[in-house]
Amino acid sequence: MHYLDHNATSPLRPESLSAVTHALTIGGNPSSIHGAGRAARAVMEEARERIAALVSAKPAQVVFTSGATESCHLALLGAAEGSLEGDDSRITRIFVSAIEHKAVLASANRLAERFPWVHVTVLPVAADGVIDLEALRVALREGKGRTLVAVMAANNEIGVIQPIADVSRLVREAGGLLMVDAVPAAGKIDLDFALCDYMVLSGHKLAAPIGSGALIVADGAPLAPQLVGGGHQRGLRAGSENLSGIAGFGAAAHAMRDAEGERTRIAHLRDHFEAALKAAIPGTVIFGEQSPRLCSTSGFAIPGLTAETALIGLDLDGVMMSSGSTCSSGKVAVSHVLTAMGIEESLAACALRASFGWSSTMDDVHAGVRSLVKLHERVRAREAA
Ligand code: PLP
Repeated sequence: MHYLDHNATSPLRPESLSAVTHALTIGGNPSSIHGAGRAARAVMEEARERIAALVSAKPAQVVFTSGATESCHLALLGAAEGSLEGDDSRITRIFVSAIEHKAVLASANRLAERFPWVHVTVLPVAADGVIDLEALRVALREGKGRTLVAVMAANNEIGVIQPIADVSRLVREAGGLLMVDAVPAAGKIDLDFALCDYMVLSGHKLAAPIGSGALIVADGAPLAPQLVGGGHQRGLRAGSENLSGIAGFGAAAHAMRDAEGERTRIAHLRDHFEAALKAAIPGTVIFGEQSPRLCSTSGFAIPGLTAETALIGLDLDGVMMSSGSTCSSGKVAVSHVLTAMGIEESLAACALRASFGWSSTMDDVHAGVRSLVKLHERVRAREAA
Protein backbone atom coordinates (compact mmCIF):
# COMPACT_ATOMS: atom_id res chain seq x y z
CA MET A 1 0.00 0.00 0.00
CA HIS A 2 1.29 3.44 -0.93
CA TYR A 3 -0.40 6.17 1.06
CA LEU A 4 -0.05 9.60 -0.55
CA ASP A 5 -3.01 11.31 1.09
CA HIS A 6 -1.59 12.94 4.24
CA ASN A 7 -3.67 16.09 3.73
CA ALA A 8 -6.83 13.97 4.06
CA THR A 9 -5.54 12.32 7.22
CA SER A 10 -2.02 11.57 8.27
CA PRO A 11 -1.72 8.06 9.76
CA LEU A 12 -0.92 7.98 13.49
CA ARG A 13 2.74 8.52 14.28
CA PRO A 14 4.23 6.02 16.75
CA GLU A 15 4.74 8.85 19.29
CA SER A 16 1.09 9.75 18.99
CA LEU A 17 -0.09 6.16 19.26
CA SER A 18 1.82 5.58 22.49
CA ALA A 19 0.49 8.83 23.99
CA VAL A 20 -3.06 7.76 23.04
CA THR A 21 -2.55 4.32 24.57
CA HIS A 22 -1.18 5.79 27.77
CA ALA A 23 -4.05 8.29 28.05
CA LEU A 24 -6.61 5.53 27.56
CA THR A 25 -5.25 3.70 30.59
CA ILE A 26 -5.62 6.68 32.96
CA GLY A 27 -9.35 6.33 33.36
CA GLY A 28 -9.99 9.73 34.93
CA ASN A 29 -11.86 12.85 33.82
CA PRO A 30 -9.61 15.94 33.66
CA SER A 31 -12.30 17.85 35.59
CA SER A 32 -12.24 15.49 38.58
CA ILE A 33 -10.20 16.52 41.56
CA HIS A 34 -9.14 13.02 42.66
CA GLY A 35 -5.86 11.36 41.68
CA ALA A 36 -7.07 9.87 38.39
CA GLY A 37 -8.60 13.21 37.42
CA ARG A 38 -5.37 15.02 38.23
CA ALA A 39 -3.38 12.51 36.18
CA ALA A 40 -5.73 13.09 33.24
CA ARG A 41 -5.45 16.85 33.65
CA ALA A 42 -1.64 16.64 33.68
CA VAL A 43 -1.71 14.79 30.35
CA MET A 44 -4.08 17.38 28.90
CA GLU A 45 -2.03 20.33 30.12
CA GLU A 46 1.18 18.87 28.72
CA ALA A 47 -0.55 18.48 25.35
CA ARG A 48 -1.84 22.04 25.58
CA GLU A 49 1.72 23.32 26.10
CA ARG A 50 3.04 21.32 23.17
CA ILE A 51 0.32 22.45 20.78
CA ALA A 52 0.75 26.08 21.86
CA ALA A 53 4.52 25.79 21.30
CA LEU A 54 4.00 24.58 17.72
CA VAL A 55 2.41 27.92 16.77
CA SER A 56 4.18 30.20 19.29
CA ALA A 57 1.02 30.72 21.35
CA LYS A 58 0.43 30.60 25.11
CA PRO A 59 -1.01 27.36 26.53
CA ALA A 60 -3.95 29.26 28.05
CA GLN A 61 -4.96 30.37 24.55
CA VAL A 62 -5.64 26.79 23.38
CA VAL A 63 -9.27 25.61 23.32
CA PHE A 64 -9.62 21.91 22.48
CA THR A 65 -12.34 20.94 20.01
CA SER A 66 -13.38 17.86 18.06
CA GLY A 67 -11.49 19.00 14.97
CA ALA A 68 -11.00 21.87 12.58
CA THR A 69 -14.59 21.96 11.38
CA GLU A 70 -15.76 22.67 14.91
CA SER A 71 -12.92 25.16 15.42
CA CYS A 72 -14.00 27.11 12.31
CA HIS A 73 -17.58 27.24 13.57
CA LEU A 74 -16.48 28.28 17.03
CA ALA A 75 -14.20 31.01 15.70
CA LEU A 76 -16.60 32.58 13.23
CA LEU A 77 -19.92 32.18 15.02
CA GLY A 78 -18.32 32.65 18.43
CA ALA A 79 -16.50 35.84 17.40
CA ALA A 80 -19.63 37.40 15.90
CA GLU A 81 -21.78 36.46 18.89
CA GLY A 82 -19.08 37.45 21.37
CA SER A 83 -18.69 40.84 19.69
CA LEU A 84 -22.32 41.72 20.48
CA GLU A 85 -21.34 42.42 24.04
CA GLY A 86 -19.79 45.80 23.20
CA ASP A 87 -21.97 47.80 20.80
CA ASP A 88 -19.32 49.59 18.77
CA SER A 89 -17.18 46.45 18.38
CA ARG A 90 -20.00 44.47 16.75
CA ILE A 91 -18.72 42.40 13.80
CA THR A 92 -20.73 43.32 10.72
CA ARG A 93 -18.48 42.13 7.92
CA ILE A 94 -16.84 38.76 7.26
CA PHE A 95 -14.25 38.48 4.50
CA VAL A 96 -13.26 34.97 3.46
CA SER A 97 -10.76 34.06 0.78
CA ALA A 98 -12.26 32.15 -2.14
CA ILE A 99 -9.96 29.18 -1.48
CA GLU A 100 -10.92 28.59 2.16
CA HIS A 101 -12.00 25.10 3.16
CA LYS A 102 -15.75 24.45 3.00
CA ALA A 103 -15.78 24.40 6.82
CA VAL A 104 -14.93 28.12 6.75
CA LEU A 105 -17.15 29.05 3.81
CA ALA A 106 -20.16 27.22 5.24
CA SER A 107 -19.61 28.64 8.75
CA ALA A 108 -19.49 32.16 7.29
CA ASN A 109 -22.76 31.57 5.45
CA ARG A 110 -24.37 30.12 8.59
CA LEU A 111 -23.23 33.21 10.44
CA ALA A 112 -24.86 35.54 7.91
CA GLU A 113 -28.10 33.55 8.20
CA ARG A 114 -28.05 33.75 11.98
CA PHE A 115 -27.02 37.41 12.24
CA PRO A 116 -28.69 39.28 9.36
CA TRP A 117 -26.56 42.41 9.93
CA VAL A 118 -23.43 40.45 8.98
CA HIS A 119 -22.39 40.64 5.34
CA VAL A 120 -20.07 38.02 3.82
CA THR A 121 -17.57 39.01 1.11
CA VAL A 122 -15.49 36.46 -0.81
CA LEU A 123 -11.97 37.70 -1.55
CA PRO A 124 -10.46 36.66 -4.89
CA VAL A 125 -7.16 34.88 -5.47
CA ALA A 126 -4.88 35.31 -8.47
CA ALA A 127 -4.13 32.58 -11.01
CA ASP A 128 -1.13 31.55 -8.89
CA GLY A 129 -3.42 30.70 -5.96
CA VAL A 130 -2.31 33.62 -3.78
CA ILE A 131 -4.86 35.97 -2.21
CA ASP A 132 -5.25 39.34 -3.92
CA LEU A 133 -3.92 41.72 -1.26
CA GLU A 134 -5.10 44.78 -3.17
CA ALA A 135 -8.66 43.45 -3.18
CA LEU A 136 -8.38 42.94 0.58
CA ARG A 137 -7.03 46.45 1.08
CA VAL A 138 -9.90 47.96 -0.94
CA ALA A 139 -12.56 45.81 0.77
CA LEU A 140 -11.27 46.80 4.20
CA ARG A 141 -11.36 50.48 3.27
CA GLU A 142 -14.89 50.37 1.85
CA GLY A 143 -17.92 49.90 4.07
CA LYS A 144 -18.38 50.35 7.77
CA GLY A 145 -18.24 48.11 10.80
CA ARG A 146 -15.79 45.76 12.39
CA THR A 147 -14.45 43.10 10.07
CA LEU A 148 -13.46 39.51 10.68
CA VAL A 149 -11.16 38.19 7.95
CA ALA A 150 -10.52 34.48 7.33
CA VAL A 151 -7.45 33.56 5.28
CA MET A 152 -5.82 30.15 5.47
CA ALA A 153 -2.06 29.85 6.10
CA ALA A 154 -1.75 27.51 3.12
CA ASN A 155 -4.25 25.76 0.91
CA ASN A 156 -5.01 22.09 1.47
CA GLU A 157 -5.55 21.23 -2.20
CA ILE A 158 -2.60 22.93 -3.88
CA GLY A 159 -0.34 23.78 -0.93
CA VAL A 160 0.06 27.44 -1.90
CA ILE A 161 1.24 29.46 1.11
CA GLN A 162 -0.63 32.71 1.77
CA PRO A 163 1.08 35.98 2.79
CA ILE A 164 -0.31 35.96 6.34
CA ALA A 165 2.08 38.64 7.63
CA ASP A 166 0.83 41.07 4.94
CA VAL A 167 -2.79 40.10 5.50
CA SER A 168 -2.32 40.60 9.25
CA ARG A 169 -0.85 44.08 8.78
CA LEU A 170 -3.76 45.19 6.58
CA VAL A 171 -6.37 43.72 8.92
CA ARG A 172 -4.77 45.25 12.02
CA GLU A 173 -4.46 48.68 10.37
CA ALA A 174 -8.20 48.51 9.70
CA GLY A 175 -8.96 47.47 13.29
CA GLY A 176 -10.28 44.07 12.19
CA LEU A 177 -9.85 40.54 13.48
CA LEU A 178 -8.05 37.75 11.64
CA MET A 179 -8.77 34.03 11.66
CA VAL A 180 -6.14 31.74 10.15
CA ASP A 181 -6.99 28.16 9.23
CA ALA A 182 -3.59 26.56 9.73
CA VAL A 183 -4.71 22.96 9.21
CA PRO A 184 -2.42 21.84 6.36
CA ALA A 185 0.34 24.32 7.23
CA ALA A 186 0.91 23.32 10.86
CA GLY A 187 4.23 21.56 11.27
CA LYS A 188 5.09 22.19 7.59
CA ILE A 189 5.96 25.88 7.96
CA ASP A 190 6.71 28.03 11.00
CA LEU A 191 3.52 29.66 12.26
CA ASP A 192 3.32 32.70 14.47
CA PHE A 193 0.05 32.96 16.32
CA ALA A 194 0.81 36.60 17.23
CA LEU A 195 -0.17 37.56 13.65
CA CYS A 196 -3.80 36.60 14.14
CA ASP A 197 -6.66 36.47 16.63
CA TYR A 198 -7.95 32.95 15.97
CA MET A 199 -6.04 29.96 14.63
CA VAL A 200 -7.59 26.66 13.59
CA LEU A 201 -5.75 23.34 13.97
CA SER A 202 -6.71 19.73 13.34
CA GLY A 203 -5.03 16.80 15.09
CA HIS A 204 -5.48 14.19 12.40
CA LYS A 205 -3.68 16.25 9.76
CA LEU A 206 -0.65 16.15 12.06
CA ALA A 207 -0.71 12.35 12.47
CA ALA A 208 -2.81 12.44 15.65
CA PRO A 209 -6.24 10.77 15.99
CA ILE A 210 -9.26 11.97 14.04
CA GLY A 211 -11.58 13.85 16.38
CA SER A 212 -8.98 16.09 18.00
CA GLY A 213 -8.61 19.75 17.15
CA ALA A 214 -7.98 23.16 18.61
CA LEU A 215 -8.89 26.77 18.29
CA ILE A 216 -6.22 29.15 19.52
CA VAL A 217 -7.75 32.42 20.70
CA ALA A 218 -5.89 35.67 21.36
CA ASP A 219 -6.32 37.34 24.75
CA GLY A 220 -9.29 39.71 24.61
CA ALA A 221 -10.60 38.48 21.25
CA PRO A 222 -14.40 38.12 21.34
CA LEU A 223 -15.60 34.53 21.62
CA ALA A 224 -18.98 33.22 22.75
CA PRO A 225 -19.11 29.46 23.35
CA GLN A 226 -21.10 27.45 20.84
CA LEU A 227 -21.36 24.42 23.11
CA VAL A 228 -22.61 25.20 26.58
CA GLY A 229 -23.00 23.04 29.64
CA GLY A 230 -20.27 22.45 32.22
CA GLY A 231 -17.64 25.11 32.65
CA HIS A 232 -14.92 23.21 30.81
CA GLN A 233 -12.10 25.11 29.13
CA ARG A 234 -12.85 28.41 30.83
CA GLY A 235 -16.46 28.19 29.70
CA LEU A 236 -15.45 28.44 26.03
CA ARG A 237 -16.28 24.87 25.00
CA ALA A 238 -18.34 22.66 27.25
CA GLY A 239 -17.98 18.89 27.31
CA SER A 240 -15.55 16.42 28.85
CA GLU A 241 -12.38 16.65 26.86
CA ASN A 242 -11.31 13.87 24.46
CA LEU A 243 -8.27 13.03 26.54
CA SER A 244 -6.73 10.32 24.36
CA GLY A 245 -7.18 12.42 21.20
CA ILE A 246 -5.69 15.44 22.94
CA ALA A 247 -2.73 13.40 24.23
CA GLY A 248 -2.07 12.09 20.71
CA PHE A 249 -2.41 15.59 19.29
CA GLY A 250 0.11 16.92 21.82
CA ALA A 251 2.58 14.14 21.05
CA ALA A 252 2.25 14.74 17.31
CA ALA A 253 2.79 18.49 17.77
CA HIS A 254 5.85 17.78 19.92
CA ALA A 255 7.25 15.41 17.29
CA MET A 256 7.01 18.21 14.73
CA ARG A 257 9.00 20.77 16.69
CA ASP A 258 12.33 21.56 15.01
CA ALA A 259 11.12 19.51 12.03
CA GLU A 260 13.43 21.17 9.52
CA GLY A 261 15.06 17.86 8.54
CA GLU A 262 11.67 16.21 8.11
CA ARG A 263 10.42 19.09 5.98
CA THR A 264 13.48 18.86 3.73
CA ARG A 265 12.99 15.11 3.33
CA ILE A 266 9.30 15.54 2.45
CA ALA A 267 10.04 18.41 0.03
CA HIS A 268 12.56 16.16 -1.71
CA LEU A 269 9.90 13.45 -2.17
CA ARG A 270 7.38 15.97 -3.47
CA ASP A 271 9.89 17.54 -5.86
CA HIS A 272 10.97 14.14 -7.12
CA PHE A 273 7.35 13.13 -7.67
CA GLU A 274 6.60 16.24 -9.72
CA ALA A 275 9.83 16.10 -11.73
CA ALA A 276 9.35 12.41 -12.58
CA LEU A 277 5.72 12.98 -13.56
CA LYS A 278 6.56 15.96 -15.79
CA ALA A 279 9.41 14.07 -17.42
CA ALA A 280 7.21 11.05 -18.20
CA ILE A 281 4.08 13.02 -19.12
CA PRO A 282 5.11 16.41 -20.53
CA GLY A 283 1.58 17.90 -20.46
CA THR A 284 1.32 17.56 -16.66
CA VAL A 285 0.16 20.74 -14.96
CA ILE A 286 1.24 21.54 -11.39
CA PHE A 287 -1.17 24.01 -9.80
CA GLY A 288 0.47 26.99 -8.09
CA GLU A 289 3.88 25.78 -9.22
CA GLN A 290 5.40 29.26 -9.28
CA SER A 291 4.13 30.18 -5.80
CA PRO A 292 5.65 29.32 -2.44
CA ARG A 293 4.11 25.97 -1.50
CA LEU A 294 4.01 23.57 1.43
CA CYS A 295 6.61 20.82 1.20
CA SER A 296 3.86 18.24 1.60
CA THR A 297 1.43 19.00 -1.19
CA SER A 298 1.26 18.52 -4.92
CA GLY A 299 -1.93 19.54 -6.72
CA PHE A 300 -1.62 18.49 -10.34
CA ALA A 301 -3.53 17.41 -13.43
CA ILE A 302 -2.75 15.16 -16.36
CA PRO A 303 -4.94 16.48 -19.21
CA GLY A 304 -7.25 13.78 -20.53
CA LEU A 305 -6.98 11.58 -17.41
CA THR A 306 -10.01 12.48 -15.31
CA ALA A 307 -9.67 12.42 -11.54
CA GLU A 308 -12.45 9.86 -11.25
CA THR A 309 -10.72 7.40 -13.60
CA ALA A 310 -7.32 8.09 -12.06
CA LEU A 311 -8.43 7.52 -8.46
CA ILE A 312 -9.95 4.13 -9.33
CA GLY A 313 -6.86 3.05 -11.29
CA LEU A 314 -4.48 4.28 -8.59
CA ASP A 315 -6.45 2.45 -5.94
CA LEU A 316 -6.26 -0.78 -7.93
CA ASP A 317 -2.47 -0.32 -7.95
CA GLY A 318 -2.49 0.19 -4.17
CA VAL A 319 -1.78 3.93 -4.43
CA MET A 320 -3.93 6.30 -2.39
CA MET A 321 -4.34 9.90 -3.52
CA SER A 322 -7.13 12.41 -3.56
CA SER A 323 -9.00 14.63 -5.95
CA GLY A 324 -9.47 18.18 -4.67
CA SER A 325 -10.46 18.43 -1.02
CA THR A 326 -11.15 15.37 1.11
CA CYS A 327 -14.68 16.25 1.92
CA SER A 328 -15.68 16.22 -1.72
CA SER A 329 -13.52 13.27 -2.75
CA GLY A 330 -16.43 10.83 -2.35
CA LYS A 331 -18.23 12.63 -5.16
CA VAL A 332 -15.73 14.03 -7.62
CA ALA A 333 -16.80 17.65 -8.08
CA VAL A 334 -14.80 20.48 -9.64
CA SER A 335 -12.77 22.12 -6.91
CA HIS A 336 -13.84 25.60 -5.84
CA VAL A 337 -10.15 26.38 -5.29
CA LEU A 338 -9.25 25.71 -8.92
CA THR A 339 -12.36 27.57 -10.11
CA ALA A 340 -11.24 30.58 -8.05
CA MET A 341 -7.83 30.41 -9.74
CA GLY A 342 -9.53 30.53 -13.15
CA ILE A 343 -8.58 26.97 -14.12
CA GLU A 344 -10.71 25.65 -16.99
CA GLU A 345 -13.35 23.13 -15.99
CA SER A 346 -11.99 20.40 -18.30
CA LEU A 347 -8.55 20.64 -16.64
CA ALA A 348 -10.02 20.97 -13.15
CA ALA A 349 -11.89 17.70 -13.76
CA CYS A 350 -8.46 16.04 -13.98
CA ALA A 351 -7.15 17.56 -10.72
CA LEU A 352 -5.44 15.19 -8.32
CA ARG A 353 -3.60 15.70 -5.08
CA ALA A 354 -0.64 13.75 -3.77
CA SER A 355 0.22 14.70 -0.21
CA PHE A 356 3.26 13.49 1.66
CA GLY A 357 4.04 13.12 5.34
CA TRP A 358 6.09 11.39 8.00
CA SER A 359 5.45 7.86 6.67
CA SER A 360 6.05 8.66 2.97
CA THR A 361 8.98 7.05 1.20
CA MET A 362 10.64 7.22 -2.22
CA ASP A 363 9.07 3.84 -2.91
CA ASP A 364 5.61 5.47 -2.53
CA VAL A 365 6.68 8.20 -4.95
CA HIS A 366 7.86 5.67 -7.55
CA ALA A 367 4.64 3.64 -7.18
CA GLY A 368 2.52 6.77 -7.64
CA VAL A 369 4.38 7.90 -10.75
CA ARG A 370 4.38 4.37 -12.23
CA SER A 371 0.65 4.01 -11.81
CA LEU A 372 -0.12 7.46 -13.25
CA VAL A 373 2.09 6.85 -16.27
CA LYS A 374 0.33 3.55 -16.90
CA LEU A 375 -3.10 5.16 -16.61
CA HIS A 376 -2.08 7.98 -18.91
CA GLU A 377 -0.81 5.51 -21.52
CA ARG A 378 -4.14 3.70 -21.36
CA VAL A 379 -5.99 6.95 -22.05
CA ARG A 380 -3.70 7.75 -24.97
CA ALA A 381 -4.16 4.27 -26.44
CA ARG A 382 -7.95 4.67 -26.16
CA GLU A 383 -7.79 8.07 -27.84
CA ALA A 384 -5.63 6.68 -30.67
CA ALA A 385 -7.95 3.68 -31.29
N1 PLP B 1 -9.62 23.22 7.11
C1 PLP B 1 -8.83 22.66 6.18
C2 PLP B 1 -7.90 23.53 5.42
C3 PLP B 1 -8.90 21.29 5.92
O1 PLP B 1 -8.10 20.75 5.00
C4 PLP B 1 -9.83 20.51 6.65
C5 PLP B 1 -9.98 19.07 6.35
O2 PLP B 1 -9.69 18.59 5.27
C6 PLP B 1 -10.62 21.13 7.63
C7 PLP B 1 -10.49 22.49 7.82
C8 PLP B 1 -11.58 20.33 8.47
O3 PLP B 1 -10.83 19.51 9.34
P1 PLP B 1 -11.44 18.39 10.30
O4 PLP B 1 -11.45 17.13 9.51
O5 PLP B 1 -10.50 18.31 11.46
O6 PLP B 1 -12.80 18.83 10.70
